[in-house]
Amino acid sequence: MPELPDLEVFKEYLGATSMKKKVTSVEVSSPEILNGISSRKLQSRLKGHRFITTRRHGKYLFLEVEGAGWLVLHFGMDGRLTYFKDEQKEPVHTRLKITFENGYHLALDMPRKLGGVWLVDDPDEFIAGKRLGPDPLASSFDFNEFKEAIQDKKGALKPALMDQEIISGIGNIYSDEILFQAGIHPQTKTKDLDDEALKVLYESIQKSLKTAIKHQADPGQFPNHFLITKRQEGGKCPNCDGEVEKIKVSGRTGYYCPKCQGIGG
Ligand SMILES: [Zn+2]
Repeated sequence: MPELPDLEVFKEYLGATSMKKKVTSVEVSSPEILNGISSRKLQSRLKGHRFITTRRHGKYLFLEVEGAGWLVLHFGMDGRLTYFKDEQKEPVHTRLKITFENGYHLALDMPRKLGGVWLVDDPDEFIAGKRLGPDPLASSFDFNEFKEAIQDKKGALKPALMDQEIISGIGNIYSDEILFQAGIHPQTKTKDLDDEALKVLYESIQKSLKTAIKHQADPGQFPNHFLITKRQEGGKCPNCDGEVEKIKVSGRTGYYCPKCQGIGG
């Protein structure tokens, strides 16, 4: 499932491909992914306009349409974007296809139709309406905001990190990475974290996500100290000679190193 680093890479991709070009047509092949707008209305609102800015909050991407609001994209379990010219390169599971004046197309490619598309007037209103917590890479997200957010949530730490109303953008994979880099056990209770542990965690969130983005959210390019590529039962811990173990926390399967993640648990 695309998480914050993937979304940041999608944002950069849009910035490099799809901005400031007039939209000439919009095809919606799976109208069920549209929310609060019909295919026809989306077509008429976008046609003749250009995307002028991009913004990301958690796992949502916002594209400002000059004079016509903001297109909002959520990628569900497996969505991604493809910019292409040759029709033969169109992804099989294209749900939304936007064509530009230069003859190129932007496809929202999404095998399982679990993501969504909206057209809204105000991204902040949308974010508030979805009750999304702060984005951990926003400049306003400081330690105190983080501490308040995490202490609002009772129970185990891993599901707290994945709760989009607490912090927006972290899912199953990056919560494992963040906890591994912080040396904190996934079952640690949020109420048991002292200021020192919270600081380590806060820094690990920032560092893990930024490092992933720096490497294009591509596990093949990740540094050796990352857990993600060894994230399987019996995988070799990147930090010690131990083995990675599988663990169920509040119904979600995670991976961790029992030797290296000694804090809490
Ligand atoms: Zn280890």
